[in-house]
Amino acid sequence: MYTAFLIKYAEIAIKGKNRYLFEDALVRNIERQLQHADGNYTVRKENGRIYVETEGDYDYEETVQALQKVFGIVGICPVVLLEDEGFDALAEQVIQYIAEEYPDRRFTFKVDARRARKNYPMNSMEINAALGEKILEAFPETKVDVHHPQVRIHVEVRPKINLYSKEISGLGGMPLGTAGKAMLLLSGGIDSPVAGYMISRRGVTIEAVYFHAPPYTSERAKQKVVDLAKKISAYCGPIRLHVVNFTDIQLYIYEKCPHEELTIIMRRYMMKIAEHFAKENGCLGLVTGESIGQVASQTMQSLAATNEVCTLPVYRPLIAMDKQEIVEIAERIDTYETSIQPFEDCCTIFVAKHPVTKPNVEYIKKSERKLEERIGELFQEAVASVETILVEAEPDFV
Ligand code: ATP
Ligand code: MG
Repeated sequence: MYTAFLIKYAEIAIKGKNRYLFEDALVRNIERQLQHADGNYTVRKENGRIYVETEGDYDYEETVQALQKVFGIVGICPVVLLEDEGFDALAEQVIQYIAEEYPDRRFTFKVDARRARKNYPMNSMEINAALGEKILEAFPETKVDVHHPQVRIHVEVRPKINLYSKEISGLGGMPLGTAGKAMLLLSGGIDSPVAGYMISRRGVTIEAVYFHAPPYTSERAKQKVVDLAKKISAYCGPIRLHVVNFTDIQLYIYEKCPHEELTIIMRRYMMKIAEHFAKENGCLGLVTGESIGQVASQTMQSLAATNEVCTLPVYRPLIAMDKQEIVEIAERIDTYETSIQPFEDCCTIFVAKHPVTKPNVEYIKKSERKLEERIGELFQEAVASVETILVEAEPDFV
């Protein structure tokens, strides 16, 4: 029945002169997602609106699912597009539409007409009244409620007449590619994929860096991170994943520094290396999955100590979230099952029994001086070890 979808977007409508940039990005992102759905589509801007028009047979569910993966869409309204063949024909079509779409007709409704094409012989008030009457005649079990209707029947007179009454919710946020790029520190855990998804929902494109520690961490642990990147790329677009060998740095810290400071020092080096790749690749910030108080390395003191080595801003989208809230998002974006697979993470292997929870930056720096002899060289070697993998969602992830 539906031959088109009207795409509603909220925030981007208020961007003034940049508006077309946001709309064009949204159109491109919609086109990209629809490549995964079964159908032929045309995505079109018309008077501050975006329409997805279908041609011939298409898979309704797949289409909606694809659109529900596009950041920046607030609502998806399946629309019937009608030729203008006079009011009586319109009334008949509206009645047929209701009959098909609402088998149970004990609802209250309101007709919400808009005449965008001023040469239509009736104004919107007249269309509202006349159509309301026709609907009540055809379905006496319905009732009009102009204030809080259960069903709002939109009739918009444009070049074609747009008839719709349903709005499927979208992800919200901003169109991908409208906010610059950031470097995500992606581990195999639950949090960092969610952090990547959330920053990306604000329009930020992401690259990612993963630190592995062979032979202490397995190929399988690395594959898990690739899989997670693949899962979020269904939303965030293709991701360049930089895999860095961190073993020698970890072993060196383990050898030279107090074990209770190991995690903090290690995290400071992770940030430094991530920042190196961020700058090399034009990223404007780093992104982590940290949340205050979750573990010893995420107290405010620890975060301050980790942050101290960074010159780029560090974005932490999960900073004030509870674990349960993060898990709910992980389930929704389908990363949770992958994240909980039990493969060793490089942090868990070298972890101390009693890590410091309130590190003092000066003490940490003092400990780091013990690394002076070789750390520069090891840093360079780690950077040189990078393997960059281009990760893209496969259709079955969509
Ligand atoms: P996650 O679930 O994201 O692994 P976590 O609760 O296990 O987080 P930590 O291990 O303290 O927390 O890591 C904090 C953040 O540091 C992670 O969210 C991630 O952004 C980054 N990080 C940790 N380990 C790695 C790694 N091996 N490679 C890349 N980034 C990492
Ligand atoms: Mg982790």
